[in-house]
Amino acid sequence: MLKTKAIVINRQDSGDKDALITLFSLEKGLIKAKIKSVKEAKSKQKFAKELFCFAEFLLAEKNGFYTVTSAECFDSFYEITTDYDKFNEAVQVLKILKIIVLENEANPALFIETLKVLKVLAYSNVQNNLALCKFLLAIFFNQGYNFHTERCSNCNMELMDDRYLCLSSGEVLCSFCSDDDCVKISYAMNKAFKFLSEIDYDRLNTLNLNKNVVHEILQLLNRNFERRFLN
Ligand SMILES: [Zn+2]
Repeated sequence: MLKTKAIVINRQDSGDKDALITLFSLEKGLIKAKIKSVKEAKSKQKFAKELFCFAEFLLAEKNGFYTVTSAECFDSFYEITTDYDKFNEAVQVLKILKIIVLENEANPALFIETLKVLKVLAYSNVQNNLALCKFLLAIFFNQGYNFHTERCSNCNMELMDDRYLCLSSGEVLCSFCSDDDCVKISYAMNKAFKFLSEIDYDRLNTLNLNKNVVHEILQLLNRNFERRFLN
């Protein structure tokens, strides 16, 4: 038996009655598990197959396959599903986790970050995509990339107004070291990165950034994510 705190990050049907869920667990990283008879009307575990559900799962293991025997819900984050934009943003968070989280590899810092971002999306009135941008910045930091440097990663010169994100290395460079595979980080974008990195999730609703700048930084963060983790 394995007892673990986990968040449901993916679900799919399995036959007529069962469901297969993917969990981001605190103790063991990614876990795939089956929930039996979960689609029957009287099932008490319906909640445990829903996306975003944060619960304590009791799992039985047999030949490397897990089956949920019971689950106790801490928070379903149900409110996320009632807002189209927030839902899409939270689905992006889950997509990222499905790529980053590995089996048998705990990542407590990322687990806590995930709970914080889901809480903000469920319960707080935050400008669209700010929580997602902050989460992506945390992902890069968690994986060893630093966006918040004041020095060029190549020549160590102090960065002035001109700075570039090198897509081939994921590092921030000065204008002299930048090449064709770099994207300019404008003054406004850098300021937005700084705000987002420094503010706590529970104060994110006090931040109001220019929509175009948010669009630009999200595009850059997504491109960087693809180059770092999808090749
Ligand atoms: Zn340089």
